[in-house]
This record gives sequence, structure tokens and C-alpha cells, in this order.
Amino acid sequence: MDRRVFKTVGLVAILRFPPYLACQPLAAIAKIFRPGHDGRHSIREPNLSSKTIEEPARQIPLYGEYEVAVLGGGPAGIAAAVAAARAARRTLLIERYGFLGGMGTAAGVTNFCGLHANVHGEMHRVVQGVASDLLARIDRLGGLNAPHLVLGKIFAQAYDTPAYKIAADDLLAAHKVDILFHALGAGVVMQDDRRINVLMVETKAGRQAVRAGIFIDCSGDGDLAAWAGAPFEVGDNNGSMLYPSMMFRLNGIDPERAGEAWRSIPALMEKAEAAGTHRFPRKAAIVRPQRHGIEWRVNFTQLAREDGTAVNGLEPDDLTRGEIDGRHQAIQAFEFLRTVPGFENSYIVDLPPQLGIRETRRVVGGYMLSGDDVLGCASFEDSIGVNGWPMEQHVAGNVIFKFPPIPESRGFNELPYRMLVPEGVDNLLMAGRCASMTHDGQSAARVSGACFAMGEAAGAAAALALSGNTIPRDIAPEKLQQALQHHGAFIGRDQSVPAGL
Ligand SMILES: Cc1cc2nc3c(=O)[nH]c(=O)nc-3n(C[C@H](O)[C@H](O)[C@H](O)COP(=O)(O)OP(=O)(O)OC[C@H]3O[C@@H](n4cnc5c(N)ncnc54)[C@H](O)[C@@H]3O)c2cc1C
Repeated sequence: MDRRVFKTVGLVAILRFPPYLACQPLAAIAKIFRPGHDGRHSIREPNLSSKTIEEPARQIPLYGEYEVAVLGGGPAGIAAAVAAARAARRTLLIERYGFLGGMGTAAGVTNFCGLHANVHGEMHRVVQGVASDLLARIDRLGGLNAPHLVLGKIFAQAYDTPAYKIAADDLLAAHKVDILFHALGAGVVMQDDRRINVLMVETKAGRQAVRAGIFIDCSGDGDLAAWAGAPFEVGDNNGSMLYPSMMFRLNGIDPERAGEAWRSIPALMEKAEAAGTHRFPRKAAIVRPQRHGIEWRVNFTQLAREDGTAVNGLEPDDLTRGEIDGRHQAIQAFEFLRTVPGFENSYIVDLPPQLGIRETRRVVGGYMLSGDDVLGCASFEDSIGVNGWPMEQHVAGNVIFKFPPIPESRGFNELPYRMLVPEGVDNLLMAGRCASMTHDGQSAARVSGACFAMGEAAGAAAALALSGNTIPRDIAPEKLQQALQHHGAFIGRDQSVPAGL
């Protein structure tokens, strides 16, 4: 197993005032440090030939002290922050963008998967709790589509991005979650080997520190867990990961003429490739209508490096090229789609703020949810929620779906609390696509539904740990299960499957 452990030793040094400065007169210190053009301090006579730069020590303002700090405002982070605040814990959610939703808004996903399960041939919405509250708010804003069938086996549910953003703002405000937007988590300072003291964030006002009793990593990339020294795996542990995609949306489609074009588009793609008019980076394109039939989302692209492995969402140069190539692929896809009946007068109405990243770090916790767990509809005594989405493997040139047997099986697996509890760090939980799963398990439970469920459980677990004056690893799972059920969550076990959609 390729486990890499990062420690931010350098950041500990940052907070320390170099002792030799204590015996220098102020004028001498001023000679060594001066404010840079960005308000930071720079060394006056740097070693220009060095490949690394020594950052001078500086005092970092404390932004605030919280009981729970959540890094990342995607589905996992939204649910985690609400669940912690709902339990009366002073909670801060930190997000690098100026809006919530994670990949669901920032990467233009515009579609919830994993809210439903096909239970012996009948569809049920198995993710409830915080997700139900959010969905109701999106619906009240007129931004929620009715669920639609995917591959004849499972439901997904499209939404409008602005409605998601506004509904999430309202949801967090209703629960008195503090939000810090436009703040990029940048490192941690540890209290000791196993406890995080503060999370460092870069803001327009400079670097600031956030102190919390318990931190929840909902960054999708496991940034916080990695900085704190928790073990993690990356992608398939073989240099690749689920391939990213640049989503986009088209407007100006004639809904009558387009009809159920998602059924005919794959055959039209094959025909175009055979005729040599177009080449596509992947099969299995997903092109489906949004709430208003004139607007369709297009999940068509696949971003690879020159060696054919997936663009790595942890590498700035990869991300840069991925964004540019992604937009280029989007235009090529658009040129093809304009040949589809009903799409002739369409135009690109949205290219999202960022490339869609499906997988990077997966933090190693007390249990790693596997592909077998998904296909075998596994049960766990410490279940905190369920996943009804199949394995969805974005491999080179294709997308492969693997379902549990339907209708023979109940169509969902349970999610154990242990997948939210990292090894090695005591005041940290993680939820969402960076939770403890194997590469195969993550291909299923990374979608929004399971991320909401994991996030809600992590927030509730943090609150329980604080009230019991213990660490998240040591809380009683039964107490967590009771708290989640009390707030309407479905956790599997002997609970009856929620009725309706
Ligand atoms: C192209 C594509 C299509 C998809 N299609 C679907 C679909 O149809 N339905 C579905 O349900 N799922 C889909 N998914 C998967 C799903 O969107 C994600 O897996 C899900 O959003 C993960 O939720 P999360 O909360 O774990 O992380 P994310 O959604 O990734 O959210 C993480 C948040 O943390 C923030 N963040 C990250 N690092 C930092 C940092 N250092 N400092 C501050 N903030 C930070 C990010 O800005 C982001 O808001 C798709 C994904 C992709 C990429």
C-alpha cells in the first residue's frame, strides 16, 4: 500500500519568533525584514541560486476559536457544519470559493446521485436528514428537477446551481453556522503529534489561524488530514485515479425535437468516430436535460496527462493544463452536439469555475469501504448512513458502472462510522470523497448522496465527542446512530426504508 505521510514541520517554525532576533536592536530587525509588496515580510538579501525559499517567521492573527471547524463547503462540508451547529456547537465552515456546493456547483455537476436506492426493484430516497432540508430549500426556490432514471436502474435528480448556492447559504444561516468564504486552507500547526492546534488559511487579508477543538476535513482532497500527518492513499495507488471531467451546460435546445436524445447520442458518437468527423476522449457521454428542457448538462470530457494517466487534482501544473484542455474538449463536444437534432441552435451557457475532480487522496481510517462492500450491499454495526449508488469507474476512455444485483438485493450498502475516523490524528474527522475508502469503494460512495450522509455523521460525531469530553474515535456508535435517527437520517440497520422519493 502506497501510504504517504506529510507533516507541516515548516509551519510550526513559522509561528516561532527566531530566538536570535530577540537580542537584536529593532533597527537591525527592520534591516533584515521589510514588508513585501503584498504586505508580507520578505528577506532582504535572498540566496538567488537556491531552489527553495526560507520563509521568515511572522506572527499570524487568530481569526477565531471554534468548537468545530469544517474545511470545505461541498455536500459533506455543508452537512457536517449543519449537524455540528444543530447540536449547539460553535461551528465555522471554511471554503476557498465564495459559495457552497463543492463540485456540485464549482464544477458544474448540477445533478444529485446517490440520494436514492433501488430496493428490490422499487426506488426509495435513502439519504434523508440534512439532505432533505437542503432539497426542500432548493425546491422552494424552483431549482429542483423530478428524479430521473439512469441506466434503467437508479434515480438521480438534477438541480439549478444558483438555487443550490442560495439554499445552502440559507440552511447554514438557519443553523447559525459561521462561514469564512474566500479562505484557502494552507496548513496546520500541531499541538503535539496527534492533535491539531490551528488550521492556517490564506485570505485577502493575509494568513490567519483558526483554532478548534475538532476539525472535519471535507476538502474532498484530504488536505487537512494530510497536513496533520494522517495516512492516505492516492487514486489507484498506481499513478492514476478516476479521470476528471470539464462539465458544461447548453441552452437554446428545442426540447420537442431533442426528445430523449440521451438514448441516441452514444450511437451518433460511434457513427461520427467511424466517419472520422469527430474523436471523443471517452465513451459513455452523459447528456441530460435540466429542470427546463431548453437547458442540458453535458458530462462528456475526460482529462488525461500526456502519458495517458489521469490529470492529478493535487498538482498545480496538471490542474492548469486540465482546465485549458477541458475547455478545449468542451468546445469539440459542443461542435458535435450541434449536429444532434434539436441542438442546432444551442449555445454554451456555462463553463464552470473549475475542472471536475472525482478522486485524489483517500484518507486511511479505521475501515476502508471497498468495491465488494458496495456490490455485496454490506452491513456494519456502526453504520451511520447508506449508499445506493453503484460503482462508477471513470477509466481511460470509458465509464464502467457496476451495480449490486437488482432486484435480488436491497440495492444499498451501509457506511461504517470508522471510515470517518482517521488513523494517527485524534481531533480530526473526514467526510465525503476523501473519506476512508478503497479506490473501488470511492468510485461509488463519492457521489453527493453518500457525502451528505457522511458529513452529517461527522458533524454529529464531533458534537458528541465534545459533549462527552472525549475524542471522536472513542464515542459510542450507538449514541451517534440515535442522534442521526433523531434528526431523520436513514442509517440502515433495522430501520425501515424511507417511503417515497
Ligand atoms: C465531472 C463530475 C461529475 C460528477 N457527477 C456527479 C453527479 O452527477 N451526481 C453526484 O452526486 N455526484 C457527481 N460527482 C461527484 C460529486 O460531485 C463529488 O464527489 C462530491 O461533490 C464530493 O463532495 P465532497 O463534499 O466530498 O467534496 P467536494 O464537492 O469536492 O467539495 C470540497 C469543497 O472543499 C473546498 N476546498 C478544497 N480544498 C480546500 C482548501 N484547501 N481550502 C478551502 N476550501 C477547500 C472546495 O472548494 C469544495 O467546495 C461528479 C464529480 C465530477 C468531478
